Amino acid sequence: MKIHEYQGKEILKKYGVAVPRGIPCFSVEDAVKAAEALGGPVWVVKAQIHAGGRGKGGGVKLARSIDEVRALSGEILGMQLKTHQTGPDGQKVRRLLVEEGADIRKELYVGMVVDRVTQRVCLMASSEGGMDIEEVAAHTPEKIHKVFVDPVAGLTDADCDDVARKIGVPDASVPQARVVLQGLYRAFWETDASLAEINPLILTGDGRVVALDAKLNFDANALYRHPELVELRDLDEEDPAEIEASKYDLAYIQLDGNIGCLVNGAGLAMATMDTIKLFGGEPANFLDVGGGATTEKVTEAFKIMLRNPNLKAILVNIFGGIMRCDVIAEGVIAASRAVGLKVPLVVRMKGTNEELGRKMLAESGLPIISAETMGEAAQKVVAAAR
Ligand code: ADP
Ligand code: MG
Repeated sequence: MKIHEYQGKEILKKYGVAVPRGIPCFSVEDAVKAAEALGGPVWVVKAQIHAGGRGKGGGVKLARSIDEVRALSGEILGMQLKTHQTGPDGQKVRRLLVEEGADIRKELYVGMVVDRVTQRVCLMASSEGGMDIEEVAAHTPEKIHKVFVDPVAGLTDADCDDVARKIGVPDASVPQARVVLQGLYRAFWETDASLAEINPLILTGDGRVVALDAKLNFDANALYRHPELVELRDLDEEDPAEIEASKYDLAYIQLDGNIGCLVNGAGLAMATMDTIKLFGGEPANFLDVGGGATTEKVTEAFKIMLRNPNLKAILVNIFGGIMRCDVIAEGVIAASRAVGLKVPLVVRMKGTNEELGRKMLAESGLPIISAETMGEAAQKVVAAAR
């Protein structure tokens, strides 16, 4: 789950990380009041969307007067902000952060993720903050310093000081950098974050270390222990089909292709998408109906896939382990009838009661295309989509 920059900054602040004074706003009027409350002489008006690259896209602007705050807020609020992370349609701006303008001497980068290989939290830090860290990683990887944090010892003072010096924090500011890094680590750990990033972390003219941006993503599987984080969810930023799917406990991700996939198990779902691509097709979605898919769940899954205007055909690929194929067949038949299915449907089922399931599909009178293997199913659905 993602949150907005201003929410991320509020969390980091609780962990002792210095952030600029700022106020979230939902209207131009709010923004003007916020700017007055903060006081000048310089403010920054920042679009709040769940995507990075806002600066380059025109969503972060400097204002030198209240009138400028008013004008810029009017421009940014409601704009369709396009960045390299939003996709071609961009994202509508509904919230702003108005904050005090910082005196930037140097922009640094710090971020944390879970490293699967070492099974540790990895701190990444670089002197090259503010721009695309992906570019730095691709072209000058030696400029990214990493610390794999021992979960028992935590992020030690020595680790912090060492990495701070490597990214060019002057000696006088190293203790402050340590506070930021250890605060970020504790925030990451205690919120069950999957990503925590401050880009840029700045050195100010007077030697302070301040988080000018904040990006926190949380592990959705751990949200049950953080009701206070769930409250920060902004449904306007999420795909409507994915929100609908989450109500039925379906793992659904919309994609750009035209072949709908309904599969049980995330691994099989990914393998199904790969197989479709192998035969020249493009999946319209990832969809894992889970182990205990009921008729209702399958029906909802069909409805969600059919909301996609690009959909040309559907592939149902089920392994009947715990799930019985006859139950799936029943679900598929009921769902096809309920939604008045108009696109070709290819079904491949393996496992418990597969003969019975296939017989039910054949006798249903519905124009269902049956397939034995994954390869055959993928080829048939790719052909049907054409
Ligand atoms: P994004 O990463 O989405 O582009 P940032 O919050 O990193 O958004 O802002 C982009 C750039 O705008 C920063 O690298 C910094 O140079 C500038 N900036 C952001 N906030 C402030 C601020 N409060 N004062 C001065 N400059 C800022
Ligand atoms: Mg940034």
